[in-house]
Amino acid sequence: MSIRHNRRAFLQLSAGAALAASSGCTSHAPGVSAAKENPPRKPNFVILFTDDQGYSDLGCFGSRDIRTPRLDRMAAEGVKLTDFYSQPLCTPARAALLTGCYPPRVGYGEGVEFPHSHTGLNPDEITIARLLKGSGYATACIGKWHLGDAPKFLPTRQGFDTYFGLPYSNDMEPLALIRGEQTVEGPVDQDSLTQRYTEEAIRFITANKDRPFLLYLPYAMPHVPLHASAKFRGKSARGLYGDVIEEIDASAGEILDTLKRLGLDERTLVVFTSDNGPWTEKGTAGGSSGPLREGKFMIFEGGVREPCIMRWPGRLPAGQTCPEVAATIDLLPTFAALAGAALPRDRKIDGKNLFPLLTGHVAQSPHDLFCYFNGKRLGAVRRGRWKLFLGRGTGETHDGKKDDTALYDLQADIGETRNVAGDHPDIVSELKSAAEKFDAEFSRSRRPVGHV
Ligand code: MG
Repeated sequence: MSIRHNRRAFLQLSAGAALAASSGCTSHAPGVSAAKENPPRKPNFVILFTDDQGYSDLGCFGSRDIRTPRLDRMAAEGVKLTDFYSQPLCTPARAALLTGCYPPRVGYGEGVEFPHSHTGLNPDEITIARLLKGSGYATACIGKWHLGDAPKFLPTRQGFDTYFGLPYSNDMEPLALIRGEQTVEGPVDQDSLTQRYTEEAIRFITANKDRPFLLYLPYAMPHVPLHASAKFRGKSARGLYGDVIEEIDASAGEILDTLKRLGLDERTLVVFTSDNGPWTEKGTAGGSSGPLREGKFMIFEGGVREPCIMRWPGRLPAGQTCPEVAATIDLLPTFAALAGAALPRDRKIDGKNLFPLLTGHVAQSPHDLFCYFNGKRLGAVRRGRWKLFLGRGTGETHDGKKDDTALYDLQADIGETRNVAGDHPDIVSELKSAAEKFDAEFSRSRRPVGHV
């Protein structure tokens, strides 16, 4: 039995829609123009990256008590990715996004960075920012860094021209707001953080409207302690957590409005997603993973599958839903391809260029095997609809046993409730051997985290 998706063949649309709708993505509206720039200017990239937001904490991902009209509209104007993955917790998630690698590839996995840490993202790594800066991009990081707070690890040493934000999580002490490499505020007024990040982002976009830019905006919210400005506090039916998400929605709206006002809409790929699943132990202060099992820290879907929207008028079709596996590690190779920047050849990059999938030129995920890491150990793999837990570590199986493998059919059982390993020994065996093959290569080519 083949474990591949049984997908229909690629569907080529007729003239007028140069890019095609895929069989893997469902299109509700046209929205792709065949207009070509000659020569094309390098596109801008905006990454809106929330912290600890649940899979279902957006209207367009099923929330009924949090209003997110701007992000819902962004999805209607772009592609909603339903099977988009980050990592189980903050620091590894940021390392993965910025390097295009599974976290253990670059020395991360267990735990997170803390204030006065002696480790950080190795400055030898080539971040998205460093890669694009080398191609003439203006680069800004506005928000939570969390990849080491020693000067040699700060964003300004990792390819970002400018930095404004918190160097680690907003529940860590002493909390400091940094501009460049200097502390400019402490203690920090967190109520106004989202608003100030938004204003900073708009200033950066405006100042760089005539050249290609990368804006990386990792919000502090909705990581606890939750903070919202007076304008949003007490307004959501979902309490303070909802207020915080609604303020982020408004922030995204202001940034999208700015792009439109400056005539940059069709030059800019905007990505919205989160770093890890909801911190469910925080009760109403944590988010909701909706139909997914578990949340933050776990490699069940609720810990790592994130709401994700990508929008680029004229280049990505509008109103599409893409159920293929995609991930934060794919942003670096995707952006590199779009910017005409060469990927480094002296190291392994795990991410793949998503653009052919997003535009419908291919129907299947570029990930033949997607890997989930429990700390630094390969804990589970996914191929198409099948996810196999390898029986390493704790809390991995449907019944809590530590050393069992477990197979889930994510297409039929999104909540990972029924271990069907016994029904599909051939699939278990195939995925196990694919995982072992990957792991053997992976363990030979890991790179170290940075040390002070
Ligand atoms: Mg987080």
